[in-house]
Amino acid sequence: MANLLVNMVKEKCPFCSEGDVFRKGSFLSIPDMNDQCPHCKKEMLGEPGYYFGAMYVSYGFAVGLGLITFALCHYVFHMQSVWAIMGIIGLMILIVAFKNYKWSRILWMKIFPPDGATNFKKSQEKVDLKSEK
Ligand SMILES: [Zn+2]
Repeated sequence: MANLLVNMVKEKCPFCSEGDVFRKGSFLSIPDMNDQCPHCKKEMLGEPGYYFGAMYVSYGFAVGLGLITFALCHYVFHMQSVWAIMGIIGLMILIVAFKNYKWSRILWMKIFPPDGATNFKKSQEKVDLKSEK
């Protein structure tokens, strides 16, 4: 579990903890994912729609961040304005949006390891062969 958290923060492959999941870019560049792990060659692409599930993980992270931000604003800084707190929560979610995107994909890969686009292509070829008969 701790290993997974370290991998998520360092954006390393959840299977070997060595390869980078995303290609290097600046903090503000749109994340670009590797098709496979540069170290263990595990496929990360997944079949079409594979990462839709990571959206729910991302939503969970955003709600968690919102609750933590609310608790800090309300109980630690004693802010009373609901609109100010909601603005700060929205700002926090925007600031960590790319990190949230990356972490949710890494966690999703760990929970449901990708079968790989190769397997999807093979299954499509089987379908094509059946339809030709
Ligand atoms: Zn790897």
